[in-house]
Amino acid sequence: MESIGQGRLVVLSGPAGSGKGRVLETLFSKRSDYKYSVSATTRSPRPGENDGVNYNFITRKEFENYIRNGQMLEYAEYCGNFYGTPKDFVEDEIKKGINVILEIEVIGAMQIRKKFPSAVLIFITPPDYKKLEERLRGRATESEEVIKGRLLRARDEIILASEYDYIITNHDNREDEAADDIIAAVRAHGLRACEHEDLNVKFFG
Ligand code: 5GP
Repeated sequence: MESIGQGRLVVLSGPAGSGKGRVLETLFSKRSDYKYSVSATTRSPRPGENDGVNYNFITRKEFENYIRNGQMLEYAEYCGNFYGTPKDFVEDEIKKGINVILEIEVIGAMQIRKKFPSAVLIFITPPDYKKLEERLRGRATESEEVIKGRLLRARDEIILASEYDYIITNHDNREDEAADDIIAAVRAHGLRACEHEDLNVKFFG
């Protein structure tokens, strides 16, 4: 394990078609000091999704209780459903030196930035619009209307990419490179001078 002391909070956002899922799979196969934070959501499971693995699927009432009890690190409404990051897992893992990845949308990402200025915000994008469209159409399971909706949403999301600390391009069949870029971004973030403001004190008391 590479981390010494506290782990880091890593936010990963990107439009549908950015290939976040495969990049993360690659990352977790390389590094045991990175873990995925399983979000809670009020949306219904899609075919193939498992409770506790992809999401914790909960009712709206349960979600409201989480919020009321201060158990969500951040949350947002997206397409009529609520999504949020349960606090306990993240806090426990970070204490153990694990870098915790939150795969969340931009509203939640901005909440994290405000609450945890040392979090790393990474935006992952397909190489260009043509590729984005090709990947979304390649899924072939969705109607033209859904695909058009996702393309429009992707445009809004890409406009907000400038709010993030790092932008990583995920090229076809180069997930390995994108995973390495995430690791490099997290490492670089910890090397910034503002992370070492106590350097003087450390040297000269
Ligand atoms: P989907 O329904 O396609 O799984 O997710 C819809 C959007 O919600 C994606 O952009 C995903 O990254 C985001 N999302 C998933 N979990 C969370 C969460 O805990 N908090 C926030 N703010 N967004 C989330």
